[in-house]
Amino acid sequence: MPFDLVTIPCLSDNYAFLLRDRQSGKVALIDVPEAAPISAKLNELGWTLTDIWLTHHHPDHIQGVPDLIAEHPARIYGAKADSHRLPKLDQALMEGETFQFGDHDVKVMDVSGHTVGHIALYVPDADTVFTADSLMALGCGRLFEGSPSQMWDSMQKLMKLPEETTVCSGHEYTQSNAKFALTVDPENAALISRSREIDQARKHGKPTVPSTLSLELQTNPFLRPADPGIRSQLGMENATDTDVFAEIRARKDKF
Ligand code: ZN
Ligand code: FE
Repeated sequence: MPFDLVTIPCLSDNYAFLLRDRQSGKVALIDVPEAAPISAKLNELGWTLTDIWLTHHHPDHIQGVPDLIAEHPARIYGAKADSHRLPKLDQALMEGETFQFGDHDVKVMDVSGHTVGHIALYVPDADTVFTADSLMALGCGRLFEGSPSQMWDSMQKLMKLPEETTVCSGHEYTQSNAKFALTVDPENAALISRSREIDQARKHGKPTVPSTLSLELQTNPFLRPADPGIRSQLGMENATDTDVFAEIRARKDKF
């Protein structure tokens, strides 16, 4: 892969990511929960930050921007729809548009649901998508602004990406997500074994993010409302996918 991908733990359970294009030397940072660990990692690697890509306006994804750009100035990208509540953007992005990162395309996907205006950034040449608080490892973001059907539409967009895509989400919530997932999909062998692996990883303080889309498709209940096992567990054999998704999301909120 002509890219380097680095995961940076921030705050109590956030992740920021650095994506470096080896050919051009460009370095993108995805979300800025806090400046210090990101700045330290850039200095350690000797990388020059060129881009900051923001996924949504919540403080735990943007609050480090002012301190970080004071030391590492970079071009800031974010959703046009959110420009009134993001740091000042150098480039405002729209659903479906593509921008350049070196010689590579970056595709902008509106994945509203957690917030309205939340975007995911897909880099096909890196087989990587940055989903923050939309699709998460074994979960999806809580619906603060959008409706269940909006989030389900967003999940379906992400499900169409190639299965081998690396999914970089914004938080280490996977262990509690796994406990919940097992309540709605208890017979899923892939989920049971992933859940064991997650427990092991967390026992040793290892991150469970990023994951892959294929693993999420097999184990993440928020991508599986069509699954007969989940439907029978919920007593919703004849419901629409949207209604099953909404029920799973509602149960997770109470879990
Ligand atoms: Zn958020
Ligand atoms: Fe967040």
